[in-house]
Amino acid sequence: MHDEIMRLIRNRLYEGKHPFARDSMGMTDFGDLTGILRKLPREKVEKYIAEIEKIFEVVKDCQACTAKLCAYLVFICEGILENKYQEYVVKLEPIQKNQRYNRDYKEEVRFHLKNS
Ligand SMILES: [Zn+2]
Repeated sequence: MHDEIMRLIRNRLYEGKHPFARDSMGMTDFGDLTGILRKLPREKVEKYIAEIEKIFEVVKDCQACTAKLCAYLVFICEGILENKYQEYVVKLEPIQKNQRYNRDYKEEVRFHLKNS
């Protein structure tokens, strides 16, 4: 399971500037990843969160991908890691508010979640 989790995370590090484009593999994979991580003990989730956070460097020039990465982290951490949950709620909020097309990033991400 560790290898599968790391594969899902690392693929996002190497596929270019928009790993969470609409209908992309990234959206599907992170939907699966969210379901997998939510079944693990919190110490393990914490360890994988640190890996996932490396993706922020990849998406730093894209508001939508940054927002969707935050939204996945919100869903992963909810009820498991309260500090991280709050951190990503706060990080997502201004991006959600200051955008032009009235997209709901949390809803776009929620669509890809399974088993949660
Ligand atoms: Zn993007």
